[in-house]
Amino acid sequence: MMQTPLSIGIMMEHAEKFFAKKEVISQTHDNLHRLTYAEVGERTRRLMSVLGQLGIQKGERIGTLAWNHHRHLEIYFAAPGMGAVLHTINIRLAPEHIIYIINHAEDRILFIDEDILPLIEQVRDKLNTVKTFVVMTDKDERPESNLTPLYSYEKLLQTGSPEQPFENDIDENDPAVMCYTSATTGKPKGVVYSHRGIVLHSYALGLADTAAISESDVSMPVVPQFHVNAWGTPFACTWFGSTQVMPGPRFTPKRLAAFIERFKVTITAGVPTIWLGLLRELEQEDYDTSSLRAVLCGGSAAPKGLIKAFEQKLGVPFAHAYGATETTPLVTYSRLKSYQKDLSEEDTLNERSKQGILVPGLEMRVINDAGDVTWNGEEMGELLLRGPWIASEYYEDDRTANAFRDGWFHTGDVVTVDGEGSIQIVDRTKDLIKSGGEWISSVEIENAIMAHESVFEASVVAMPDAKWQERPIACVVLHKDHHIGKDELLTFIRPQFPKWWVPDDVLFFDEIPKTSVGKFLKRELRTQVKEYYEI
Ligand code: ADP
Repeated sequence: MMQTPLSIGIMMEHAEKFFAKKEVISQTHDNLHRLTYAEVGERTRRLMSVLGQLGIQKGERIGTLAWNHHRHLEIYFAAPGMGAVLHTINIRLAPEHIIYIINHAEDRILFIDEDILPLIEQVRDKLNTVKTFVVMTDKDERPESNLTPLYSYEKLLQTGSPEQPFENDIDENDPAVMCYTSATTGKPKGVVYSHRGIVLHSYALGLADTAAISESDVSMPVVPQFHVNAWGTPFACTWFGSTQVMPGPRFTPKRLAAFIERFKVTITAGVPTIWLGLLRELEQEDYDTSSLRAVLCGGSAAPKGLIKAFEQKLGVPFAHAYGATETTPLVTYSRLKSYQKDLSEEDTLNERSKQGILVPGLEMRVINDAGDVTWNGEEMGELLLRGPWIASEYYEDDRTANAFRDGWFHTGDVVTVDGEGSIQIVDRTKDLIKSGGEWISSVEIENAIMAHESVFEASVVAMPDAKWQERPIACVVLHKDHHIGKDELLTFIRPQFPKWWVPDDVLFFDEIPKTSVGKFLKRELRTQVKEYYEI
């Protein structure tokens, strides 16, 4: 066979050649833009040529601090397309983490959305390697700023060559993109994706039994482009010629619902918090969502109530998937097998709420102290992964030795595997609750509580206990205008668990603290609960 390199450039070339008329629809601060792939391709080429003029060398890192829009998409292809490395930066991180990762990645240039400029202006003096700033704006005037030199994206593009070729001296194992995890403890960890990893992962998103992304899709990534590359969907969608709808800065559930109706979105992707918000909006106002064929949900466990509400009330198929920054991210996808189609409603929901089976191309093991667990849906162990889109290290970080051992990535996720091979995440290793020497899964209790109609969100954390070592405490946010007490809630879940799994207390909150990507921030929650009990 020929050894032609799998490179990101070939994806955009394919879109330019075969899907020239298909569109990218993009909301920016001021305008809604509609560009064809012919135009996006030309602008990508101009940008590659500009990056060369600005002195960017092969392998150097190009940072972005941006929402989901067409300019961000162009850099997705221009940076790796000219041999450099795209570094998408999570704009919701604390400033000290943003400083850390820009310095750690040694970014040479930063592409920044206009509303994010103040954040970078504040920390500018602490950035050691950045030589150039580019603001991404629709406005003709460049904003006032202490960042120098500061170029305007559109003005720069005018100076670039529309025929700039994609770099052809690329080894498929060269670095193409890097992302940092959002780190609930310690410093963020960097992960570098190769061209080969991204191309193979894109194929995986196109498989009929995963997201099945295709030319006929209209894809709206709600998961940010700065969070594991919007789960890789912009790469796959461009390559396959899907229409893309980029919801832009500071979107609201209203905008998402309106875009689904207006642009006939067929597939959209995001974390459960986003879908809880959208669900509220869809319940309050009438929208035509009949175009949707899949709502992709990952990043944290999709509560059964949410899956049920989407599927039964709104008739919108909900697709639960699992992955991590280290895995590009797609690892498992929850889909009923052909012979499971006649399961009862309850069993179907149980299956759908699992994280699903491994995507072809990857390998997994689940191990605990006794070795590989039995696939009986009960034995818990840590999930280990390997494959062509699983990272083999953290970027220049001595935490590599702990997570990448014996040829496997140790995910830190504790799971069970059932007889079908479907995994269920029971916890992060660090969030499991150890009571009387036995493990309790906080996630399972959370799911049970969230199934109560009055509950909006629930998170369960461990509190130190003199007798049992640790005991679970439930932290609950109720729906507006709902009133229920601790006893009613515990009575509701009691039949589902052994006695000792039932939380010792239920605390009611207005809001549960969340990470920058919308996951429960259990470290912070534990601190708040400890303060409450004065521990
Ligand atoms: P961070 O949130 O630290 O930036 P990631 O986005 O990489 O990191 O998160 C990966 C982690 O998110 C996984 O290891 C797992 O714990 C959790 N996760 C991802 N998808 C799911 C899911 N469908 N169900 C439960 N947990 C999930």
